[in-house]
Amino acid sequence: MTHRILVLGAGYAGAVATGTLARRLRPDDTEITLVNAVPDFVERVRMHELAVGRILRHRPLARMFDRTPVRVVIDRVTGIDVTAKQVALAGGELLSYEELVLALGSGPAPPAAEITGDTVRSVGNRDEALRLRSDLAALPPGRRVSVVGAGLTGLEAVTEIAESRPDLALSLHAGGRIGTGLSSRGRRHLHGVVGRLGIEVREGERIEGVDGESVRTADGAGHAADLVVWTGGFVPSPLVAASGIETHAEGRALVDRSLRSRSHPEVLAVGDAAWARGPGGAPLRMSCASGIPMGWQAAETLVAELHGRSAPTVPIGYVTQCLSLGRRDGVIQPVHPDDTARRVALTGRTAAFTKERVCRGAAWSAGHPTLGLPLPARAVAGRAG
Ligand SMILES: Cc1cc2nc3c(=O)[nH]c(=O)nc-3n(C[C@H](O)[C@H](O)[C@H](O)COP(=O)(O)OP(=O)(O)OC[C@H]3O[C@@H](n4cnc5c(N)ncnc54)[C@H](O)[C@@H]3O)c2cc1C
Repeated sequence: MTHRILVLGAGYAGAVATGTLARRLRPDDTEITLVNAVPDFVERVRMHELAVGRILRHRPLARMFDRTPVRVVIDRVTGIDVTAKQVALAGGELLSYEELVLALGSGPAPPAAEITGDTVRSVGNRDEALRLRSDLAALPPGRRVSVVGAGLTGLEAVTEIAESRPDLALSLHAGGRIGTGLSSRGRRHLHGVVGRLGIEVREGERIEGVDGESVRTADGAGHAADLVVWTGGFVPSPLVAASGIETHAEGRALVDRSLRSRSHPEVLAVGDAAWARGPGGAPLRMSCASGIPMGWQAAETLVAELHGRSAPTVPIGYVTQCLSLGRRDGVIQPVHPDDTARRVALTGRTAAFTKERVCRGAAWSAGHPTLGLPLPARAVAGRAG
């Protein structure tokens, strides 16, 4: 009997899982279907680049998988019935499975602030980045742009905008201090870059309101802003929690080390859709750095079990955090496997070059399903692009 494996989502994690499955399983006894809402693979780690006008390489999924037996379905998943083992698509098709891989990713977290007006944008996904791109392009010189949130995405966004639009007045609003996850060398370099780019850094400033002309802190202080880029983290696809499988509080599927759902073992979850423990017991962070090795792991779990073996599990840890600071600068922060910074850091142009290579490597891993790497002895990854 043919075994039906259904993968939902063709981001980094889903594409890598599907490619590995296609390479490792025989098409005469396995049927692999990959569903994605849009026809191309989106390099989500480059959304801040897209927002400032960069043209990204077109990567059609149909071409990526054309030398594999994978059936690629371009449609939006609207519901997952884990009891009937069926997935509903917007186009009306119902897909059945024996094993399901959830790789639906995440989107930008909605702003935790009172919003009036229509000036809040994000770089959290392609639609948002394109909206920001046209708004930025329409802003005349001298206008003010506030980036709220100074995690890695906020830092990449604010420096990218400042570099490509030196005629705008940029401010960065951080709830705490900037660069706290970096070594002191990395932090010093970051401060130097934001200073060089003329970005006004406002630390310890929680933004609680946006009114179309300004952002407002908890104590009512306003700061003029014609456009606001909100980077308050990511939220997983709501379809994961709606499916009824066990999830963590924030809606990511709770999985064991082999990436099987704790409540529904025929469901695996990878990437931003999954909540799995990493080194030291902390959850793996939503990142392509963990999404790619999770894709490998989920595929190996399925392959092993279909071959009647128990699934090998490898610890997924981190090697570096790679931060772009515009196109010509950056910080490569070596980290311990639990993602805490080591004392050294690579900075400047060499770091920018390295980050670019890492992003290309991540897209390559997703885009070459027939050429992937074997499951490494220890699946480590940096904050890969
Ligand atoms: C600006 C920016 C910079 C980043 N930089 C880094 C970085 O340097 N390093 C790093 O490690 N991480 C970075 N990240 C985070 C990283 O991009 C994500 O963690 C990663 O993309 C998650 O991979 P994924 O495969 O789980 O999900 P995604 O890449 O989000 O892919 C999910 C896929 O599911 C599809 N999908 C969603 N809903 C549906 C539906 N209903 N029906 C059908 N298909 C659907 C989507 O179209 C998409 O193809 C960055 C993110 C952003 C926004």
